Amino acid sequence: MVSDAGSYAPVPPDLVARAPKVLLHDHLDGGLRPETIIELAAADGYDGLPTTDPEALRAWFVDAASSGSLERYLETFAHTVGVTQTAQALRRVARECAEDLAADNVVYAEVRFAPELHLEKGLAEHDVVESVLAGFADGQRSAAQAGHPIRIGVLLTAIRTATHSRRIAELTVEFRDRGVVGFDIAGAEAGFPPTRHLDAFEYLRRENAHFTIHAGEAFGLPSIWEALQWCGADRLGHGVRIVDDIAIAPDGEPRLGLLAAYVRDRRIPLEMCPSSNVQTGAAESIERHPIGLLRRLGFRVTVNTDNRLMSDTTMTREMTLLSDAFGYGLNDLQWFTVNAMKSAFIPFDQRLALINERIKPEYAALRAVLAERLSERG
Ligand SMILES: [Zn+2]
Repeated sequence: MVSDAGSYAPVPPDLVARAPKVLLHDHLDGGLRPETIIELAAADGYDGLPTTDPEALRAWFVDAASSGSLERYLETFAHTVGVTQTAQALRRVARECAEDLAADNVVYAEVRFAPELHLEKGLAEHDVVESVLAGFADGQRSAAQAGHPIRIGVLLTAIRTATHSRRIAELTVEFRDRGVVGFDIAGAEAGFPPTRHLDAFEYLRRENAHFTIHAGEAFGLPSIWEALQWCGADRLGHGVRIVDDIAIAPDGEPRLGLLAAYVRDRRIPLEMCPSSNVQTGAAESIERHPIGLLRRLGFRVTVNTDNRLMSDTTMTREMTLLSDAFGYGLNDLQWFTVNAMKSAFIPFDQRLALINERIKPEYAALRAVLAERLSERG
């Protein structure tokens, strides 16, 4: 029966791979191909790489990013940022990003990057944004030709330890009709509360622009509270620590504090990145990741990759890990995907079109395939 197929778990890996996916939290400088890093370093005279063997480099990134500290994790970006200081390099990595996501059957993605990190060789912030947009346009064209149409929206990221957030917010508004759909703030969280950048957020709100804030990853509830109640974030990057405001009573019943209740009631999207959270110590393991509890309680949870290179991951892998750890079937994976699409920063009618024309029919087809296999097995 098809209804059983929807809850059957774990979902066979080939069906997870074929499922249409939506990704809201992915860093451009965290998703480079190791081969590309090596080629760009050679072309650019960048000599800081720990190795020039692609497989060894792939392993090095995962290893260095798995130290259990957000600060150490962020250090690995010196190399990916170091080799993307020219217009050609930025255009290439953006094209490859679109192609890699499309090959993973991602139908819609919001990819973020910080323009201010790519100015070392004389590019202006405008050039950086133009180059990345051109690369995404190239990638969307080639992905469509390869039979995997994908749409990419760009988020411009400001660095929370720096002071340029207002300028990046203005850049977001300036490019809003050309593929930039929102703003983000990222970087070391402890000691750098989002209210340091209030000016940028107030500007964005006056301009009716969308933004998300990395909050509740390395640091707890005060960071989430500021992001929502002072800054007015539309979504939370990670937000895993919201579980600190949920107590489990002796009878096993969860009791939500005021902030957790607010997040759930207002349907604030949580951009959760399971593998990344385990690497930085924000979660103990995939099996103990707060996503299990938050999904059960009906929070607006979404599944994301964060940094595909540092976690050696894809959307298919993150979904597979969750299906294995929590017994999620196709219905659950569709729920995460529809949650993400509803929470995207593109216009409402376009979100609905992707839900009704891609996500729902393609999931229905997968349920039928699985039902067929299950009935053959008898
Ligand atoms: Zn992130």
